[in-house]
Amino acid sequence: MPIDPSQPYDPDNVFAKILRGELPCKKVYEDDFALAFHDIRPQAPIHVLVIPRGEYVSWDDFTARAGDGEIAGFMRAVGHVTRQLELDGPGYRLLVNMGGDGHQEVPHLHVHIFGGRQFFQMVP
Ligand code: 5GP
Repeated sequence: MPIDPSQPYDPDNVFAKILRGELPCKKVYEDDFALAFHDIRPQAPIHVLVIPRGEYVSWDDFTARAGDGEIAGFMRAVGHVTRQLELDGPGYRLLVNMGGDGHQEVPHLHVHIFGGRQFFQMVP
């Protein structure tokens, strides 16, 4: 079920629990701004999620409330992960689902990194 992005941040959402170490994950990378781990139901040979450490429901919430340093640090972390996974050569796809129409299911911002195969041309 897609989330309602106007809801307040739920500290018991699954990614908050992963950040606190209450649920396991297959960690790929972490720094002061972000944690990256493999998606539990991969949709591509490589499917990694990158989440900010801060409590943001969605991309919209993040870009509205986060400080410039936090946004820059998070974006740099996404780039670091793609290079660590050696996807910068072959290429990759980034995806953020936002809210109901975007079919976002977990109410903590996450950037999907897909790689390891060629993707079809993106058409809306
Ligand atoms: P969304 O539709 O919100 O953009 O994507 C949520 C993603 O989180 C899905 O790809 C789903 O497979 C992944 N996911 C949901 N629960 C867990 C979990 O407990 N662990 C991991 N690693 N991924 C999860």
